[in-house]
Amino acid sequence: MADCIFCKIANGEIPSQFVYEDDKCVAFRDIEPQAPFHVLIIPKEHIVSAMEIDETNSSIVGHIFTVAAKIAREEGIDKTGFRLVNNCGKDGGQTVGHMHFHMLAKRNLQWPPG
Ligand code: 5GP
Ligand code: ZN
Repeated sequence: MADCIFCKIANGEIPSQFVYEDDKCVAFRDIEPQAPFHVLIIPKEHIVSAMEIDETNSSIVGHIFTVAAKIAREEGIDKTGFRLVNNCGKDGGQTVGHMHFHMLAKRNLQWPPG
């Protein structure tokens, strides 16, 4: 999608620090990290939010969780753990209209979130 910042990151138009890429998704470091380890995992396809997930495209969500587990093993946080979270819509705190999962780790994350 022409005006989408995450589409531009996914296709390399806007530089970012990739930690993973395959044909369906990319993971890159968040520009304003909220934990010592903070990456965003996004589909390459422009999906606005979790509200656009249906039977035709839901396999990407399972794929993203599989990628998160792979990244966790590579980063050595598979035993210590991490948080994988999706903000959906205004009240969910979503600020970028291209669905993404935050993967946060390497500190003791609190619950509930603010
Ligand atoms: P949201 O608030 O939509 O759940 O998360 C959007 C995230 O994208 C924020 O954590 C923000 O720091 C990150 N972000 C926004 N613009 C950029 C950018 O240009 N590059 C990178 N790497 N992260 C960005
Ligand atoms: Zn997009």
